[in-house]
Amino acid sequence: MTKKRVYLDYAATTPVDPRVLEAMMPFFNEDFGNPSSIHLWGQQAESAVEQSRELVAQILGCSPQEILFTSCGSESDNLAIRGAAFHARQNRDANVILTTPVEHHAVQKTAEMLAQLHGFEVEYLSVDETGRINPAELAERIDSRLAIVSIIFGNNEIGSINPITEVGNICSETDVPFHTDAIQAWNLLPNPITDLKVDLLSLSAHKFYGPKGVGVLYIKQGTGILPIQTGGDQENGLRAGTHNVPLIVGFAESLKIAASSRAHDNHHVQLLRDKIIEGVLSSVPNVRLTGHSSDRLPNHASFVFRDIDATQLLAGLDLHGFGCSSGSACKTGDPEPSEVLSAIGLPDEWSLGALRVTVGRDTSEDSVSYFLYILPEVVRDLRRVKA
Ligand SMILES: *Cc1c(COP(=O)(O)O)cnc(C)c1O
Repeated sequence: MTKKRVYLDYAATTPVDPRVLEAMMPFFNEDFGNPSSIHLWGQQAESAVEQSRELVAQILGCSPQEILFTSCGSESDNLAIRGAAFHARQNRDANVILTTPVEHHAVQKTAEMLAQLHGFEVEYLSVDETGRINPAELAERIDSRLAIVSIIFGNNEIGSINPITEVGNICSETDVPFHTDAIQAWNLLPNPITDLKVDLLSLSAHKFYGPKGVGVLYIKQGTGILPIQTGGDQENGLRAGTHNVPLIVGFAESLKIAASSRAHDNHHVQLLRDKIIEGVLSSVPNVRLTGHSSDRLPNHASFVFRDIDATQLLAGLDLHGFGCSSGSACKTGDPEPSEVLSAIGLPDEWSLGALRVTVGRDTSEDSVSYFLYILPEVVRDLRRVKA
């Protein structure tokens, strides 16, 4: 009997939609020009990049000049934070990065490095037991010492959604630019995106059925930012490097599909997510949901199992054909509890047993039922071995 394999890790990455692949293909070897070249090949490539930019801008509800293509979501986060921090220091002597203890590493490590090597200070807003910030605390702490505020939109590890519009309203009354990592929250963005009152917003195509290796940074007109990669004057001089035309085309096409199937997608995954949350909480002893129970990403379920080793749990599920995650990037062989789970106050005997189950367009109800049938067994076996 061939074993059924079930992918339940859509927050890590998604398969490329065949329509996206088809849109990208000609730009590898037929229309292969360099958009910076003067001749016809260059003009065609440039036109593909600019049409993609216009499509992205139209879907997000902003102007094409506010869309900058990058090589991934991590680069978008880096450019937003480094670029805005250095600009703020240069222009208004601001030196403090205000962020949260539950950011993706692309934000967290960037802020830490700016502190360690470049003399910035990092301050953290507190988060509640669901990992969400309180806008009232920000309103109290915001002042001109701040170079940038960066707050994650939808948490990749625990799924909670932050009150981004409220934060945007607070920041927009000051000079302090506000960045949000919206990479998991791609299907929750308002149209127009300007409703969020953010200055900088990161997206990555491979989280919404586009190719890996291409991202966008939305930069609201007038936001002060310096380049972090220098060379040619591509992307208004903010990001040197020959455009990756096929991937940029793929970004736009996948965002277009995401926008047109949004209602359907969100409805589909939310039903499955709720089935997973209910099923796990009712069938496994000593388990807790992490993150907010309702204000969470529509495709995201996350748990901690008391006295379970997350790596063993993932390996046990893998043996049954399930691809899940512990929630944060590759913690293999690393017995340290996740910083996010520590920040929301979970003790080690809980936080070392984290499981993230994220569903997508192709997840079927049957495969979720099968998962809910196998999981309690795997947990029971691991606890029996331990006892
Ligand atoms: C995936 C992810 C990133 C990194 O994006 P890449 O394109 O893989 O570099 C950053 N932040 C969040 C919240 C993510 O989920």
